[in-house]
Amino acid sequence: MAGASLNGVSVLVAGAGLAGLAAARDLAARGASVTVVDARDRVGGRVWTIRDGFAEQQHAEAGGDLIDEAQEEIRRLANDVGLKLTRILRGGFGYVRQDGSGTPRVVHRGALRGWDRLADALTAETTPYRRAERRWDSPITARIARQSVARWLDDVNADQDLRATATGLRGFFLADPEELSLVALVDQFSDADAPAPGAMYRVEGGNDALPTALAKPLGTRLHLNTEVVAISQRGRVVRVAVKSRRAQSQITCDYAVLTLPATLLRRVPITPALPAQQHDAIAALKYGRATKTLLQFSKRFWRLPGRPRALGSALPFGALWEANEEQRGRAGILSLLAGGGASDATQAIAARQGIAGLADTLEFLGSRRAELTASRQIVWEDDAFARGGYAFFDPAFDPALRAWLGRPAGRLFLAGEHTSIKWQGYMNGAVESGLRAAAEVAAVHEMT
Ligand SMILES: Cc1cc2nc3c(=O)[nH]c(=O)nc-3n(C[C@H](O)[C@H](O)[C@H](O)COP(=O)(O)OP(=O)(O)OC[C@H]3O[C@@H](n4cnc5c(N)ncnc54)[C@H](O)[C@@H]3O)c2cc1C
Repeated sequence: MAGASLNGVSVLVAGAGLAGLAAARDLAARGASVTVVDARDRVGGRVWTIRDGFAEQQHAEAGGDLIDEAQEEIRRLANDVGLKLTRILRGGFGYVRQDGSGTPRVVHRGALRGWDRLADALTAETTPYRRAERRWDSPITARIARQSVARWLDDVNADQDLRATATGLRGFFLADPEELSLVALVDQFSDADAPAPGAMYRVEGGNDALPTALAKPLGTRLHLNTEVVAISQRGRVVRVAVKSRRAQSQITCDYAVLTLPATLLRRVPITPALPAQQHDAIAALKYGRATKTLLQFSKRFWRLPGRPRALGSALPFGALWEANEEQRGRAGILSLLAGGGASDATQAIAARQGIAGLADTLEFLGSRRAELTASRQIVWEDDAFARGGYAFFDPAFDPALRAWLGRPAGRLFLAGEHTSIKWQGYMNGAVESGLRAAAEVAAVHEMT
């Protein structure tokens, strides 16, 4: 972090998720006078630890959960604020596949094998994409991006297994093969630097400990229940209109860092208008459907020697994993992440048969041997201040516009998971984008 170059400078940060809070911490360390506003009644945004209702003082994550070994920014930030990360899910991800009779079966190394096959099948696309140095303004990328994954599967005459693997990835991309641009897949499989799936972690005591720790030093400079409703910049002044409990007021500042998801940012009038391409990028970006169901059972029936405690699938419940391996107690919580069409399917099961009906779909793991004692279901596409799980690129999105999502516009600086290039869709991407935006404010200020 640079020295105190922002003394006497006021910065408004919109959004108290990880991007906003990481930006606020960095800006304050540079000497800026920082105000943070968030429309919700809590900090953390899409990081939300659920504690209420679970027995044995257990908790689980409604949003961002798993932190990868390679995600350095979030790991460093957690360490800097004195938090510990706990290693979890050492057995990695297995896969659930239906056998000939339709019964789900756990295949142990299935996830990796499926990914290897997909990587092989994608070679004809990843080779030119790498030649374009993974640039999103290349016609090579434009050609790849306008195809859906579903169309590509047809073009390569994919077998059922490959199709099931691609569908299972909706637990990762939050989009079905019909909705997802092929570029998302090609980009994922073109990262030569990507380490093999490494260790996974979560924050000890709950991931919300991180936003809570970041928010603490803000004190009264953090305003919750405060929604940004309009933004204008004129000369050296930025004016942000906010609404809190029906009263509207205006905050005047030197710079603003905007970390709202694009789904919300595109509803906020900005004057003068953003450059046309930036406006279009923000308007066109899609967010995935994502339903998280947290099921607490009287015992951890899914644990068997040698069986992974995390499983991908193309089934209606989505991907599932033990949500609180690191916590004490006989009871245990399973986290079901249903993305894209699985989000609709999971909600349909819950509507027809209740959450118990959803729990029954886990019979193949032995769910009938335990009692379902508590549950929570969070539908992120219905969340008023997220309107989806995280961003994904569909075939209609012009990849050349991607860079505009994170480009500064005058005194406005854009951050948030969706603006990250390397870690889009992750908590790490949010943190890294917030730090980037803070450094951009400092750089612009120094040059003006
Ligand atoms: C179900 C699910 C599972 C996930 N799993 C993982 C995972 O395992 N690992 C991982 O790394 N990541 C995961 N993620 C992604 C991760 O949670 C996000 O990438 C990250 O938390 C986004 O942070 P952010 O600061 O960009 O956005 P947010 O956290 O959404 O913060 C933006 C803030 O802006 C506020 N806001 C919105 N509109 C306004 C307005 N008009 N005025 C003021 N404030 C406003 C919102 O209330 C919010 O607090 C998951 C996400 C979901 C939904």
